[in-house]
Amino acid sequence: MPQNRSFKPKRPLMKKANNTKSVEEIIRELKAAGQNTNINYRQQSLQIHGLICAKCGREFDEKNKNLLTVHHKDGNHDNNPLDGSNWENLCAYCHDDEHTRGLLGDYITGK
Ligand SMILES: [Zn+2]
Ligand SMILES: [Zn+2]
Repeated sequence: MPQNRSFKPKRPLMKKANNTKSVEEIIRELKAAGQNTNINYRQQSLQIHGLICAKCGREFDEKNKNLLTVHHKDGNHDNNPLDGSNWENLCAYCHDDEHTRGLLGDYITGK
């Protein structure tokens, strides 16, 4: 009977030890990534659709454009086609209204 002396684990179990990111760290990174995306598509949408609420027609300018929010028509805020076809610029009131109708989706205040 051969003895099992030569048995060695194929991989040292060190990989996991290198991956000691804390949960908090991961969440922080995710948040940072998400915020960057939000800023990007918000700017895009404002540029494409203009500083005007798509619902009530209220106009905004550089000073109060932070009151304009970007609504995702299909409710999926990961769906961000660069031509703006899934975005709608809504003022905070109309955006609220849109979501209280029971639509799922994002709520981005753009702060
Ligand atoms: Zn509005
Ligand atoms: Zn929305």
